[in-house]
This record gives sequence, structure tokens and C-alpha cells, in this order.
Amino acid sequence: MTLDKRLGQRFLPYGANYLDWSDMHELREAVEHGVLFRYQTENESIASRLERRVAERLGAGHVLAVHNCTEALRLALIAARPRSGDLVHIPAVTFVAVAGAVLSSGLIPVLVDVDDSLSLDRTLLPPGTQRVIVAHMEGTVAALPQGVPYVVEDCAQALGARFPDGRHAGTAGYAGTFSFHHNKVLTSGEGGLVVTGDEDAWATMRCYHDHGSARVPGRYPTWNQDAHYGENFVTSEGVAAVQYQQFRHLDEVLAGLERMHAIAMEELPDRQGLHVLPRAAGDVKISLRFRWESRELRDAAVAALTERGIANWTLNKYLLPEHPVLTGRRSLYSDGFPWNLAPGGPLALSRDGFARTRDLLDRTLCVPLSPELPEAGQALAVKAVRQALETV
Ligand SMILES: *Cc1c(COP(=O)(O)O)cnc(C)c1O
Repeated sequence: MTLDKRLGQRFLPYGANYLDWSDMHELREAVEHGVLFRYQTENESIASRLERRVAERLGAGHVLAVHNCTEALRLALIAARPRSGDLVHIPAVTFVAVAGAVLSSGLIPVLVDVDDSLSLDRTLLPPGTQRVIVAHMEGTVAALPQGVPYVVEDCAQALGARFPDGRHAGTAGYAGTFSFHHNKVLTSGEGGLVVTGDEDAWATMRCYHDHGSARVPGRYPTWNQDAHYGENFVTSEGVAAVQYQQFRHLDEVLAGLERMHAIAMEELPDRQGLHVLPRAAGDVKISLRFRWESRELRDAAVAALTERGIANWTLNKYLLPEHPVLTGRRSLYSDGFPWNLAPGGPLALSRDGFARTRDLLDRTLCVPLSPELPEAGQALAVKAVRQALETV
């Protein structure tokens, strides 16, 4: 692929570049075996191997592979045995899947405003808060609230990120969730993982994700006398095999992002009207994040980059207080469940009705990095971004 093509409008910036037939040993194994169902295998399934590998790499207690991060969020929420209608505090700036997972679990989302780094502002949480989802957006590790019993870390955009104390994002709260959707750090098209150090939660998740059964691999499911209902979130060997291949490249992807980010921080000095948002050492450097002085400048920068075929995105799409799924409070249930369980009054916590957040989003612009490029290519790509921004 030529450099120009690489610099073009591509939205498969990370793991997708590492998909490679010559590296698909596990997928070949699954196909040659003729079994794509994880509980049908005679030896340890590829899905189990993946879970074990991820647990080792992240220092996680238990790992369960599911179809996507949204299912992982649902498992994390219901494994805590909530009452229907319980409140779950979520960031006001994140992908709508977070709110959808809360609602489809029969719970009520409360939108909490974000700080300058666009992470949930934990100082806004009222005393006695029970359930919070913190999202580490674009690899930026958010500090977790203290004293909240059920903190779920949504790491859909932050696989491999670390807290300042060295723990991996996803392993510090009650549970952590990960996505292998096409646009994330690693990809299997769709795919998800939930991790937890809580033994009871893990047992509950495992049963719920397999029709409520306490299955022994290789056998028909069995239901204990105390079984509860479940759904089917059991992953496929084919997907797990691709995830395993992708996982082999995690460190390479992280290092490539780190290297290009460092080049950019050298080459893109702050100029008037533009601020390059700093990243912490443990963050995954998913993108360059720019903050402009005004929305007009930001929009001019979008135009300049797009005109040159340089991929970029804004974060306005993540503003949940204005998302139709939340403003409309619609449900497929004729009684409006679970919104009908919501207490009166606004389900939002903000000092200023999200005015500052709206302004921050209006002035923010992100440019993806290219971990797969050699250093010289990364330097050229950074130069192209710089030249585009200089015209603004
Ligand atoms: C992508 C994403 C999700 C949903 O992940 P899926 O695997 O697509 O279900 C959830 N939260 C955040 C922050 C995301 O970016």
C-alpha cells in the first residue's frame, strides 16, 4: 500500500492493519478441526486460551469472551444483582452503547458531566452512589470514584491502557469491558470481553451468558436447582481465533501508537489558537486530540484535513444529553419500561446544564495515528497533519 493510501480517509486505523493470513494459526486450527462451538472441543477451546492469555496480560482475575462490549456491559451490570430501576451513573460524553446497556438491563442512566479531559467528573457523584460506568475514552485513563461498590470500567477504546499505579484499565473496578469492534484497538469485526476479580460476579456472568447453565465444557448444559434465566452470549471459536491473532500484536500496536504520538508532540508545537491535549504515560495513544480556541477554527481544521484526505473526527456525536435515545425516553415495552421506573426530575448531574462540555466538544478535533507505519512514514504523516493545520 502506498503512503498516500495510508494517509487517506481510512477508518481502520489499528488492529485491522495486522489481519494477515500467514498469522492465522488458531483460525486454521479451528477450521481444520471442524468445530466452531467453544463448548464442543475436546481440548482446551481457543476461546478459553484467549481468556487465559488476556487474564495473564492484563492481570485480570477472570475473563469471559462475549459477542461485543455492549453485552459485556450488560453482564457486568446485572451480575451485581441490582433492583430493576436502580440508577447507574454514566459519563455524559461516551458512545450510546453505554446508555443502551443500562436501559436494556432494566436500569436507569444518570448522565454525569465530564472534566477537561472529557472523563466522568467523579466530584459530581452524590454520596451513596452505588453504580457507575467510567469510560476510558480514546485511551485516556479516567480516575475511578472511590467508595462506590460497583464501578464498571468501559475499556472499549482503551485496551492496554494503565493507571499511574501500573494496573491495567479494566482491572481496578468491579468489572471491566472491552470491544473488538472494527474501530477499536484490536478487531474481530465484532467481539467483546468482560473481566472481573469478583468470584461471585464471574460465576453469575458465566451462567447468564450460557442460558443460565453451569456448563461443563464438552457436555450438554446443566442447570443447578438455583439456576436463573439467561441469554446466549457464548462466543464462537472463529471469532476467538481472530482475537487471539490480534492479541499477539497488541504490544506492537501500542508501541507504534506511542512512537507516532511522541513524534507528533515534537513536531506539532502549540500554536496560537490551538492546543494539543497532553496524554498520560499509561494512556493508549489512540489519537492526537486538538483543542481549538473556537468552533470556527476547529471546523476550518476539519475542512483542511479532509481536503487533504487526512482522516479526522470530532467528538460531538458522543454528547449523550442531546442523543435521541436519551431525550426521547422511548421504549419498546408498552408500559415504557424501564423509563417508567425512573424518578421524576432530570437524570443528569451538571453544574451548568452541560454548557461547558458542549463548548469543549465544539472545539475538539481528533486525528488518528498509524501504528503500523515505520518511523519515517509516521514522521511524514505527522508533517502532512502539521502542514494542513498551518493553513487554518
Ligand atoms: C464501541 C464502544 C462500545 C460498544 O462496543 P461494541 O463492542 O460495539 O458493543 C461501548 N463503549 C464505548 C466507549 C465504545 O467506544
